[in-house]
Amino acid sequence: MKTMFSNAIAGVLTMLLVAGLGCDKDGRTAKQTETTPAQKAQSPEMKEPDMAEKVVRTDEQWKQILTPEQYYITRQKGTEVPFTGKYWDFKGIGTYYCVNCGSELFASDTKFDSGCGWPSFYAPADPNSVQETLDTSDAMVRTEIICSKCGAHLGHVFSDGPRPTGLRYCINSAALKFQSERDKKTDSPTDPNEKSPPPANETPTAEPEST
Ligand SMILES: [Zn+2]
Repeated sequence: MKTMFSNAIAGVLTMLLVAGLGCDKDGRTAKQTETTPAQKAQSPEMKEPDMAEKVVRTDEQWKQILTPEQYYITRQKGTEVPFTGKYWDFKGIGTYYCVNCGSELFASDTKFDSGCGWPSFYAPADPNSVQETLDTSDAMVRTEIICSKCGAHLGHVFSDGPRPTGLRYCINSAALKFQSERDKKTDSPTDPNEKSPPPANETPTAEPEST
């Protein structure tokens, strides 16, 4: 008796469920027709600025984003006191970026101990990342190095460096911003320590829910 009763209940529930689902399905269909996915496709995507694009700011703007020391060195062609900068004796593995615009300038594997009191490299990370200009200040003739992207004064290049280039890029620490290789790996999406993505849920389909 009990079994028959249960079956009857189950039958009624099934009918109600089907009826309800029919309404649900109709409702969803109506909603779907209201939202036009075409609008999504039309949303414009902001493109990354061209890497070759120059960074141009006024002196006032540079003053606001740089420390007084960074401003003095990079925008007024200053020189930090030797053996005082934070990178002259620094041996971290990674990349040195322009402190003004973030352009990649030097890699740690080209850094060498020149004994001059400033961080020294035998080559830039990319030949196009720095530019050379003639500097005749201080009763000397030197080759000044500036950031190609923003014109920041970085330092000078001399021809007494080690192999393979024989050059010594003598750069002010205050013009550089170092990022270690480890930090860069943490930023990478392929890093195994990266947070695992949320469990893949079943993609909702047009089929009504089975509960
Ligand atoms: Zn720069």
